[in-house]
Amino acid sequence: MTPRIAIIGAGFGGLCMAIRLERAGITSYTVFEQASGLGGTWRDNTYPGAGCDIPSHLYSYSFEKYTSWTRRYPGQPEILGYLAHCTDKYDVRRKIRFDTAVTAAAFDGTGWRVTFRPSTGTAEPRVEEFDVVVAAVGQLNRPHLPDIPGRSTFDGVAFHSARWNHGHDLTGRRVAVIGTGSSAAQFIPPVAERAARLTVFQRTPNWVIPKPDAEFSPRTQRAFHFVPGLQRLYREWIYRYAEGTLYPALAGGWSADLLRKRALGHLHAQVRDPALRAKLTPDYPPGCKRVVIDSRFYPALTRPNVEVVTDKITRIAPGGVETSDGRLHEVDTIVYGTGFRSTEFLAPVDFAGRDGRSLREQWREGAEAYLGIAVPGFPNLFLLYGPNTNLGHNSIVYMLECQVEHIMRCLPYLTSRGPMEVRAETMAAWRAQLARAMDGMVWGEGCQSWYKTATGRVTNNWPGPTTLYRRLTARPPGGAYKFG
Ligand code: NAP
Repeated sequence: MTPRIAIIGAGFGGLCMAIRLERAGITSYTVFEQASGLGGTWRDNTYPGAGCDIPSHLYSYSFEKYTSWTRRYPGQPEILGYLAHCTDKYDVRRKIRFDTAVTAAAFDGTGWRVTFRPSTGTAEPRVEEFDVVVAAVGQLNRPHLPDIPGRSTFDGVAFHSARWNHGHDLTGRRVAVIGTGSSAAQFIPPVAERAARLTVFQRTPNWVIPKPDAEFSPRTQRAFHFVPGLQRLYREWIYRYAEGTLYPALAGGWSADLLRKRALGHLHAQVRDPALRAKLTPDYPPGCKRVVIDSRFYPALTRPNVEVVTDKITRIAPGGVETSDGRLHEVDTIVYGTGFRSTEFLAPVDFAGRDGRSLREQWREGAEAYLGIAVPGFPNLFLLYGPNTNLGHNSIVYMLECQVEHIMRCLPYLTSRGPMEVRAETMAAWRAQLARAMDGMVWGEGCQSWYKTATGRVTNNWPGPTTLYRRLTARPPGGAYKFG
């Protein structure tokens, strides 16, 4: 029997799963996508300057050799174009149900009853049955709007970076940006060029290292296309650099000090004013929060029309943003670069597993899953980019492919032996292994970040080398699961 598979989400993960199934000749799957377009985070984040700070020759599928990247770090439109290219080349678009939001999924003893409804309108929910559910809804899909008093009283125009208001021309405006993470670092430079005044509200400074971006000339692109092995070699080089140099910096290894020096050197080279430099110097170890990789951010902050405010925001007033020193910063536009509700994994969908147990309830203290993929009590449910599979140093697409291969290995088991569920003892051993590995990582102490819950548990990041993750996910899955 070929399993009926529901995939939730048509971003990098969901598309990877769908393409892999197609390549294996399995067409009994449906991709549910709540939006009207594919691409996930690369569809949502259209802010000016949006792009990836992992080079695209690595931040792309290993099976889809793509030699047309125009630069080392392409922008959002090019990455979205790549995903559309893959979707069409592998003919999975016909299997995507756009504008269809999955709201619930319940295990009925043999398979999953998936409830979905149109994302807009009032149509009644519908239910369809599947043997397997693959949830690929991402970690950074739900914008976080901060709970600042008075937010709704603002008289001007306000929006989140992942819901950019392109109809609102920023030319000549007085703009406030709240937040200075990777997203804000990318959109602040183009906004600063257009706005009359830009006030950047920084709560915590980030470590920033340069982004060695460069265009690929048509000649280089041709070389990638025609010279056998060149593209693969380049990809391999980026991967090994990230793994061999950046990972040890996060694990307290030999390059931790180098990373700090590199970031401080970058700050000194780009910011001459000692007062501004002091504001921008973090007091926690590099990597504790996601390191920002950008060469345009600091220069934008030194522009005469830009002010960096580090006083605490106390209130949003109709006319602007008030800070703890009693100042009202008058603005007509507020852009929230305040990140995502990253620890609420799978929150948009109500999952009910064996005996009706609620996944939300089971994850009350923080999300967890074996390999980030499987959850005890939830047979035949697989997660992509699940708990503890985010990286601060390498390509998430690499991790997604490991997860997809693991799920592909599981399919013959569950078709021949019945629904498969990760054993409680497997999960306990996994939890202990993660906790041991976490001990040496830089994320635990000294900062708050989107990698962890309010109580400080790191639920988002993978604490080992990606080579280890690949080995663990490649093991035959039989012994870790029970069946029936
Ligand atoms: P983020 O890293 O979570 O940054 C959110 C920012 O908003 C932080 O500066 C935070 O300050 C600030 N903030 C939140 N609540 C606030 C409040 N109540 N008052 C004042 N400031 C507040 O979010 P992001 O920049 O959207 O990036 C999220 C992740 O997306 C990145 O870490 C990265 O993994 C990914 N991303 C990647 C790329 C790429 O090139 N690969 C580009 C963009 C995003 P605190 O630091 O004090 O909390």
